[in-house]
Amino acid sequence: MTSTLPNDNIKNFDEQITNKLISEIIRDRIKSKGTRFSANDNIADFINPGELKVLEKEVASRIKDLLKSLIIDVDNDHNTQETAERVSKMYLNEVFKGRYHEQPKVTSFPNDKNLDEIYTVGPITVRSACSHHLVPILGECWIGIKPGSKVIGLSKFARVADWVFSRPHIQEEAVMILADEIEKLCEPKGLGIIVKAQHYCMKWRGVKEPNTSMINSVVRGDFRHDISLKQEFFELVKQQSSNNNY
Ligand SMILES: [Zn+2]
Repeated sequence: MTSTLPNDNIKNFDEQITNKLISEIIRDRIKSKGTRFSANDNIADFINPGELKVLEKEVASRIKDLLKSLIIDVDNDHNTQETAERVSKMYLNEVFKGRYHEQPKVTSFPNDKNLDEIYTVGPITVRSACSHHLVPILGECWIGIKPGSKVIGLSKFARVADWVFSRPHIQEEAVMILADEIEKLCEPKGLGIIVKAQHYCMKWRGVKEPNTSMINSVVRGDFRHDISLKQEFFELVKQQSSNNNY
């Protein structure tokens, strides 16, 4: 068993000769650390350089099997011949990249001028997929900050939001995870996040309601304790809201 071997090199060698699928090797690593690997967790720390390419091939072969089980003639239907490879790349490197890729680099700076006025950033476009049906969730997000000891560039909020949302999610948890990441990056005195999104599992299937959206928010720190600050946050966001249909 790999877990009983003390030396990392031997461990890696042992992994190579087990003929395990790369997904099994990565999963075993995660389990040996007792780490959670739910759909909306990032597992980049457990993927070694070069392994994502191998995983891409494994996922493609599984998707090809899925298409075959759906009785689609992948051998002769020219439209679906490379669909499995395309979908695999899309999952691992685009729509679910927030699971397999590391967080974009965000540099924080000391808040030298002791800025303490709140500001909001938005709307930031967010794209996700529901964990239940793997169909899109598309929407907008607003982030409000009362600065603490550190500040980060405005564009970084959009990058981190994109990274967090690019995983299968339920909206309520996505907002909490984004709040956790922003707190880690800039340790604000107050933080507020609002997400308004449309869920294609309601638009495209199920009840087929085309215009229903879900709005949820999280407020932390001073935004939670100070009612007037919270109101100021919601007021600023109202001014930033666009008039599209999200
Ligand atoms: Zn769904």
